[in-house]
Amino acid sequence: MPKRIAIIGGGISGLAAAYALEERRLRGVPVEYVLFEASPRLGGVMLTDRVQGCLVEAGPDSFLTEKPWAIELCKKLDLADQLIGSNDSQRKTYILVKGKLVVMPDGLMFMVPTKILPTVFSPLFSLRTKIRMAAEWFHPPRKASDDETVAEMVERHYGPEMVDRLADPLLSGVYGGEASQLSVRAVLSRFSDMEAKHGSLGRAMLSARKKMAGMAKGPVPPLFTSLKEGMQQMVDALVTRLDRRALRTSSPVQCVTGEIGGWTVSAGYKSDHFDAVIIATPAPAAATLLHLTHEKLASELAGIRYSSSVTVTLGYDENVRRSLPPGFGFLVPRSEGRRMLAATFVHNKFPHRAPENRALVRCFLGGARDEQILDFKEDEILRMVRSELKQIIGLAAEPLFARVYKWRGAMAQYEVGHLERLHRIQNLCGSLPGLVLAGNGFTGIGVPDCVRSGTQAADRLSSVFGLGSADAAQSTST
Ligand SMILES: Cc1cc2nc3c(=O)[nH]c(=O)nc-3n(C[C@H](O)[C@H](O)[C@H](O)COP(=O)(O)OP(=O)(O)OC[C@H]3O[C@@H](n4cnc5c(N)ncnc54)[C@H](O)[C@@H]3O)c2cc1C
Repeated sequence: MPKRIAIIGGGISGLAAAYALEERRLRGVPVEYVLFEASPRLGGVMLTDRVQGCLVEAGPDSFLTEKPWAIELCKKLDLADQLIGSNDSQRKTYILVKGKLVVMPDGLMFMVPTKILPTVFSPLFSLRTKIRMAAEWFHPPRKASDDETVAEMVERHYGPEMVDRLADPLLSGVYGGEASQLSVRAVLSRFSDMEAKHGSLGRAMLSARKKMAGMAKGPVPPLFTSLKEGMQQMVDALVTRLDRRALRTSSPVQCVTGEIGGWTVSAGYKSDHFDAVIIATPAPAAATLLHLTHEKLASELAGIRYSSSVTVTLGYDENVRRSLPPGFGFLVPRSEGRRMLAATFVHNKFPHRAPENRALVRCFLGGARDEQILDFKEDEILRMVRSELKQIIGLAAEPLFARVYKWRGAMAQYEVGHLERLHRIQNLCGSLPGLVLAGNGFTGIGVPDCVRSGTQAADRLSSVFGLGSADAAQSTST
């Protein structure tokens, strides 16, 4: 009898898990899977629309090139020739400071300055912060090993202005979260390692950069990678490779119960029996599913907070395109008192996404401190965004089109204590054979991390059931 595995959640995490099982099934390994997705479409927050010749990303627009798992999956899906890099020659990001856009100085690596002159002459920081930056080179290694917030760490090294102008806006861009809540060990583990070893983040970053430069051969890869037809292309390619009969959309699962020898998954009026279950939903949804089976695990999962996100894309004509600043876009620190968190000039970051006579501006709102934005109607959100764009970059023109997307509870917040919570979750799952968790709630929120989590979930069950390794799957499929 083939092993039957249920996958709950059809975002990129669940799809990656399904694909890893499909590879084995095609090799003749005795495994069957059923993927349950609550909504009528697969892909979760990965969704691309086409409007007037422009590619409009509703959720993620790209992924970090240095994290290999999404690129590896795209290659397996025969999408290697569809991968494109960000237009890094145009990479320039602004920060809104006292109502004006200020360019981020060259040599800033995340928020760590590694080049002296551009930082010294940058109007982004006050003299006080520049003195702190110089003193940071002599920062001693931290003795305490306990977790702390990103804000606490950055403030210890560079002072509060760095938290407000860089750490917070950068983190709200990636996590929809706040530096004063997010765990440095969970979201910037590299920084805590560097601090433990070198003390100064500036010195540590510079030495890492020198090492990289010594090893680097050939052209520098682009910072971000995406797909020619948008992120949806990856979802579509996955869906066409999966067993159609195994995909159950519009099937919200209400409950997952463990019993001797397997698991029962209840969706609508139907219940189905499986040998194992991969839950690839946001963690709070996983908590609801497991409430009856394991209250303690459910309560740990419910403790992983999520924030919501709203993206607004506006399309304009060539006159606006000519008038917009060069570069990838801008970030808005909280102290500026705006609703908008950031905006991307898509036509510069990924030029092929807008014809030459179009400008595409994508704005981000929401995040941990503005959950209320979800309650506004789309036209109210549009009015807000247009008014702020007018104030920030003087953009008053009527857009040719606008699209608003609301993502409720989509961004996991790895708060202080997240790694300890993960450890407890792993221990609790250890007592529930055949249950594996995947998704963005655990070890990474980016698309590549989610691909890895789904693939690893399938690999883990395959090793428990003797269904063959991923390598074996790969060697047969290539
Ligand atoms: C606006 C936005 C921009 C982003 N930008 C980037 C970016 O540029 N680069 C990057 O790398 N990452 C980005 N991210 C993060 C990344 O896109 C997500 O973390 C990732 O796509 C999440 O995938 P997932 O499959 O884990 O979850 P989701 O995509 O949330 O999918 C979970 C699925 O589970 C389903 N589900 C929930 N409950 C049930 C149930 N009871 N039964 C059945 N199904 C259920 C949901 O309907 C959903 O389809 C962004 C995220 C957002 C929201």
